[in-house]
Order: sequence, then structure tokens, then C-alpha cells
Amino acid sequence: MIWDDNKWKELLGDLVQTESPSGFVEGIRAAQQLIVEELPALELKHRFHETENGTILEIFRELEGKRGALLLSHADTVWPLGTLENMPFREEENRLYGPGVLDMKAGLVIGVAAIKDLSPGTPFCWLITPDEETGSEASYRIIQKRARQASVTFVLEPGGEDGSLKIGRSGVGIYRMMISGKESHAGLDPEHGASAVRELAQQILWLYSLENRVLGTTINVGVIEGGIRPNVVAGSAQALIDIRVRTQKERNRLQQLLSAPPQFDNRVRTEYHGSFARPPMDHNTRAESWFGLAKEIWDRLSGTDLAGINVGGASDGNFTARLSPTLDGLGAVGKGSHARNEHVNWDFMKWRYALLKELMEQAEEDEKDEDLRTNWS
Ligand SMILES: [Zn+2]
Repeated sequence: MIWDDNKWKELLGDLVQTESPSGFVEGIRAAQQLIVEELPALELKHRFHETENGTILEIFRELEGKRGALLLSHADTVWPLGTLENMPFREEENRLYGPGVLDMKAGLVIGVAAIKDLSPGTPFCWLITPDEETGSEASYRIIQKRARQASVTFVLEPGGEDGSLKIGRSGVGIYRMMISGKESHAGLDPEHGASAVRELAQQILWLYSLENRVLGTTINVGVIEGGIRPNVVAGSAQALIDIRVRTQKERNRLQQLLSAPPQFDNRVRTEYHGSFARPPMDHNTRAESWFGLAKEIWDRLSGTDLAGINVGGASDGNFTARLSPTLDGLGAVGKGSHARNEHVNWDFMKWRYALLKELMEQAEEDEKDEDLRTNWS
């Protein structure tokens, strides 16, 4: 075991202090470079893929006929340049704070530590992408390609607060509702107008009626606007909507409904524009035996139970769950992703690293993986 608290805290500090918001390609590249420099003496290959959103770093070890695991991670954060000034990297009671520390720079540290300690020759492929926080538009193709080639996919997003893994993730659809009505004077000529705002109100109620909390389908109309003055019947209105679904079936249902919405006032035109950028990670039976294995390892390491949870947030695991068994949330444990109190609970780090290392070593046994594939595809 090569776990060394001071060494890995130092690497985490370097990574956090290399600010890398999505879109800031120099910072993202600098963070990736830190990782490359940590893995010099080993027999690894790496390549940089240039994209319009920045560099994708791929680190890998090939072994004839064996697929190994795919590790998924991202170097970008949601925090704008300069955040460090009032949210510096700091340690308090074995908790480490700073922008992107949990999501997911500590996940990168776990990846480096696990790879350094892998038994010799274990094949794997590790992707460190630049645009996860903005939807992975430039990365999802290579993610899917590598997932097809891998025996299993491990995602280094943060786990739950007790360490739990994320075995189901919602798909996220972002839609814009656009309504055009007809303006008229609200006092002199109301019957000539067709109110887009009134239609908007009815559309919103219709949208919320489509929710299904039991199946995990939630709808949020987060932004509305419309009209120009109180005494003018509104000629236009629009809304921005966030839709989360847990299953492909629910996604299809919603997509179909939004392509042909009801018209409450026939003189008004309503259209929904948008799509599901990430598909749902269905409660993913293909990964069940991997989850069982993770539980066993975790129990042995920490003496505690490893739970599996369904969450509303999406990750790049949403892209891979259909292509290879996917365990998500294998990264650091802490609290406050995307929030100012974002921090990592360092006590978990040595177990997270050891869990990932053991899982990666198991992924090498391709006979078993072949079984998993045929039973579950
Ligand atoms: Zn993340």
C-alpha cells in the first residue's frame, strides 16, 4: 500500500490551486499535466486529444486480449477563475476545502494513487475530460467508444456523504417553451388579443401534471418571462424547464408529449424546443455483480456497509451505463459539490483509493466479464 496522506494532500492542493473552470483550456491542460507528471516511471502511455472545449487526456495500459476498466473523470470545475481568492484551498479537522476539491479533483488523486499501486500489467484506460460540467459535448463520443471497449466503467464522481455509490442517475432534459399570442389593448380591445401569458400559466400547470415522483420524474419550470406592460394583452411569453427522468421509458413519454402539447387557446402557438443531453442511467442491472463486489471490498476495508443510491444529478456515467456495466460515485466522499462549503472528508480517501485499485484489478479477468456481458446485454 502506497497511501501517503501528506503526499496526496499536496497533490490535491496543487490540483485545486490550478484553477480549471470549464472553458478555460489552459487551466484544464495544466491540471491534466500535473497528473501526467505524477505517473512518469510506470509503463503507461498517454495522449492528448484536442477538442473545441479543451484537451481530453487519455492514460492507458494495453494488454493483449484483455480489456480492463475504463476510468471516467473530468478536470473542469464549475468555479470561475479567481474563486480561490475568497475560497482558498485549506484544511480543517481533516476536511479539505476549495473550489472543485470534491467535484472532482480529489477523484483525480484517487485515480493517480490507485494506478500507481496496481498490480503490474493491469490494463486500463483513464479519460480526464475538459467539459463534463457543461454537458460533455466534445467528450461524449470518445467516452462511449472507450466504454464499448472496456469490461466495466468506474466513474470518479463524488460518492454519497456516507460513501455510497451512485447506481442510478437521472437523465436531464432542458427545454424552452415558446409562446406567441396576439397583442391588443387590455381595456379597449381585449377580445382581439390572445394572451401568451395566460397560455403560459396553463402550460405550466399541464407540465407539472406530467410529473411522476414514484418513477422519479421531476419537472421544474425555473424561469418565466412574457408580456411588455400591464395594459397590453401579452403577445409573447417563454419559460425554461428542467426535466429529470430515471428511465428511458419516461424520457420517451415526455419527449412525445412535448412534441405535441395541448393548446388551451387555439389562437396562440406553443412550441417546446430542447432535448435530453444525457440519457438516464437506469437502475443498472448490468452493474449489479460489480456493485456486490464493491460492497465486499468496502466492508473488508472500512467495516461499514456500502449503499447504492439513485440521484437526480447526471454525470458521464449516464453515457456509459448502456455500453458497459457502470459504477458511479467511486470518487471522494464529502459534501457541497457546486456549493461554497465544498469539501472532502479525508478519512475516506485511503479506502476509496484501495477500493478503486481492487476493482480495477478484478476488471482484468476478462472471462468473467464476457459472462457479465452476455447475460446482461
Ligand atoms: Zn463532477
